Amino acid sequence: MATCDMCGKEAPLFKSRLEGTTLDVCPQCTRFGKAVQIPRAPKIRQTQAYLPARKEILQIITEDYPRKIKHAREKLGMNQEEFAKRLNEKCSIMQKIEAGQFKPSIDMARKLENILKIRIIEEYAEQGEVPINISDNEEEGAYTIADFIKKKS
Ligand SMILES: [Zn+2]
Repeated sequence: MATCDMCGKEAPLFKSRLEGTTLDVCPQCTRFGKAVQIPRAPKIRQTQAYLPARKEILQIITEDYPRKIKHAREKLGMNQEEFAKRLNEKCSIMQKIEAGQFKPSIDMARKLENILKIRIIEEYAEQGEVPINISDNEEEGAYTIADFIKKKS
């Protein structure tokens, strides 16, 4: 026969929680057990540390980079060959870029931006939701609006 965990008496036993452990106790000790305050279970601390919000910046080349590059290059009065030299790239690469057949790398796009004073890199903060740091120059903006109207009619 089972005995009470508290007093050792043989008796029908009941489960009783005492100081965080469960004991099998006799009816008398159940009462005693109830009198003892059960310590609160410690709050489960999340092991997961708080990581600083990931401020990952996504850099994407804008879709209309061929037109922007060509437009800005022509404005500078350079032909593709001259411009390629200036960039230290092959003329064939420049032709492909302006034809939209070759997307420049971010590094190359930066060079293009600096030389042509245009923006062809879009930066998105986190999840690509909020575009930041996008500023077209006025002429490019006008170009786009004109384009838009043309499409609409
Ligand atoms: Zn007992």
